[in-house]
Amino acid sequence: MSRVILVSNRLPVTISRSRGGSSQTLNMSSGGLVTGLAPLHAKSNGVWIGHPGENPTPETLNELKNRRLVPVDVPAREYRNYYEGFSNSALWPLFHYFIERCEFDTAQFEAYRSVNERFADEIARVAEPDDLVWVHDYQLMLLPEMLRQRVPGVRIGFFLHIPFPSSETFRVLPQRTQILRGLLGADLIGVHTYEYAENLQRSFRRLLGIETVRGELRYSGRSVRIEAHPIGIDTDDLREAAFSQKADRYLVDLKRRIGDRQVVLGVDRLDYTKGLPLKLQAWRQLLASSPRWRRRAMLIQLAVPSRENIESYHQQKDEVERLVGEINGLYGSPGRIPIHYMYQSVSKEELGALYRLADVAFVSPLRDGLNLVAKEYVATRDDGGGVLVLSEFAGAASELGESLRINPWDIEGTAAQIERAIEMDFGERQERMRPMYHRVVQNDVHRWVERFMSALTAQEVEELRFPPSLQSQVLAGTLAPQLANAKNALLMLDYDGSLREFTERYEDAMPTDEILEILTDFGSLDGIKTYINSGRDRNTLGEWFGNVPVSLIAEHGSWIREAGDSDWTRMGPPPDLRWKEIVRPVLAEYSERTPGARIEEKSSALVWHYREADDALGEWQALELMSVLEDMLSGSPVEILSGARVIEIRQQGVDKGRAFEFVNESEGPFDFIMATGDDRTDEDIFARMPEDAYSVKIGGGQSNARAAVGSPGSIRRLLRALIEARRGA
Ligand code: UDP
Repeated sequence: MSRVILVSNRLPVTISRSRGGSSQTLNMSSGGLVTGLAPLHAKSNGVWIGHPGENPTPETLNELKNRRLVPVDVPAREYRNYYEGFSNSALWPLFHYFIERCEFDTAQFEAYRSVNERFADEIARVAEPDDLVWVHDYQLMLLPEMLRQRVPGVRIGFFLHIPFPSSETFRVLPQRTQILRGLLGADLIGVHTYEYAENLQRSFRRLLGIETVRGELRYSGRSVRIEAHPIGIDTDDLREAAFSQKADRYLVDLKRRIGDRQVVLGVDRLDYTKGLPLKLQAWRQLLASSPRWRRRAMLIQLAVPSRENIESYHQQKDEVERLVGEINGLYGSPGRIPIHYMYQSVSKEELGALYRLADVAFVSPLRDGLNLVAKEYVATRDDGGGVLVLSEFAGAASELGESLRINPWDIEGTAAQIERAIEMDFGERQERMRPMYHRVVQNDVHRWVERFMSALTAQEVEELRFPPSLQSQVLAGTLAPQLANAKNALLMLDYDGSLREFTERYEDAMPTDEILEILTDFGSLDGIKTYINSGRDRNTLGEWFGNVPVSLIAEHGSWIREAGDSDWTRMGPPPDLRWKEIVRPVLAEYSERTPGARIEEKSSALVWHYREADDALGEWQALELMSVLEDMLSGSPVEILSGARVIEIRQQGVDKGRAFEFVNESEGPFDFIMATGDDRTDEDIFARMPEDAYSVKIGGGQSNARAAVGSPGSIRRLLRALIEARRGA
């Protein structure tokens, strides 16, 4: 494997001074990211670069070196301006949609740039062109481009651990273009959710005019991908602590003290993005409207100290503590206070015991990149009990669909959901918790590291090609004279997305009069064989093109029908379709979870369409479905293809490319060949075409085609120009 250089603001260790003395000790920091990345660091033999937190003594420096940790030296004042300044007083509030809390200070940005330069210099000192560099988080967004300039060939991944806001919000940032250009130095940019990926793509488009196609863009002759990879937690480590003897003892003690009261648990860093004041107001609302809960339920709120050097965090703490006092004063009685508030950090075992104890976890951030607390709670609930109440503004909400969703700004609505959670019967609790539990446990932090790294390295082996995008007249100028003189020409046309624009519902994309006319004209020309090579089923193609003199290939190369015939001939081996029985219920389950998604049954394929589903949700579910199917069907004689908002599972051994070969051999030799297509299934044709043939891709992005045009409209213009040329010859 390549050497991996990990880069994060802080090194994964804490340097502490021994009591009274001048010597230092080094301890591994806790937290999911560190435990997730540590095995990669150990295995790949690379270094980890970051700020050490404290000035290391010569002995500590030696120890860091032994552990392959490289400290970046930053003067204290510059570090403050970079970290507490631009990172946490501009980027953090802006990316969490708190524009009014932003301080945009040029000197702070200068410090941010300077620290990013220091990191780039440090990496450049150790990086080799074959290394992989993985940069983490919003403190280092300028770094990818700076590094690209210093070590051009190196492969760079970047992961953003906080939200990427809507382009409307992002464009407020005075240094917006510098930040975007900084990111574009990476080969792969990872974020937690599809929504963030879309936001980022829209910013590239609006602010830099760079188009992305299916998560990919071209910049300075390179390809940059933007992908959603939600981080997981270290499930094993968490469960070990939560089910340790120490945790058991805490739990017994807590239960004894709490008695029969229902426990609602909040665990948040004390940060304004976590929405603690609104959470407390919702709790007050519940106690006001349903007095019975004043004595029968309690909120345990753990507020973990954070960024205590920043003034706005002080104000937040004051406000939270004032509200806690007010609510306890109003609704408490001797021995029964409705909020147990702790401003401290607790051990993993204590936290685990609290998760196990809580009847309800109340996770209500106003914005959160992901929210690990929600996943941690779920991971301790294999008993199937416990209810997760989760803000729809947490990134984790897109994965934890069975939670009770809240809009934390809606105080009454939130109070009502909390009450529903407390009252929920065990059957429903289990039904909701079980699927979340399995999802969280399966997609742990180690899987996340694997996924990101394999996305980063997959790009490495694949030679990316981007065909030049041409106007239809320019392309016609090249093709028309050759077609005009051809004796035996082959034209193989894809239909959906190539000849015809997509429609909301796929059965509505019937051919227009214009298309039928073009096909009729082509089909009537001597010396040209015209085929529609489509993924659609035989019946639809037969119905739509029955009266047009062109030949048809259906279901991605499974069936062929010559012009003028009414019988279809099967191509490829006779199918073994037992896999359909396993796949069908899985598709049905995903359709149920994804409003607007549908299943299409073909003779040797099953198709999951999600064009009508919500954009982000559809993409999300499709990705998950792909990985479920890949696991389930490995070794089966099927292929899984993702097309333009469809996933097709089909019998192996047939594809559009083989159909092309069949025609080329049985009807050839041809002295002019042109094929068109817009998605992955058409690439099978492009890959098998002779060197001098013309393959034309519709739409942008990576492709093996020789040229690209913008839209089906351009293809129709091109075809009309070709008809004219042939007639004129
Ligand atoms: N946590 C902690 N000490 C505590 C309580 C919680 O380290 O006393 C951890 C918790 O287990 C979780 C993390 O802090 O892993 C909080 O992550 P989250 O994504 O919820 O919020 P963030 O603080 O990253 O905004």
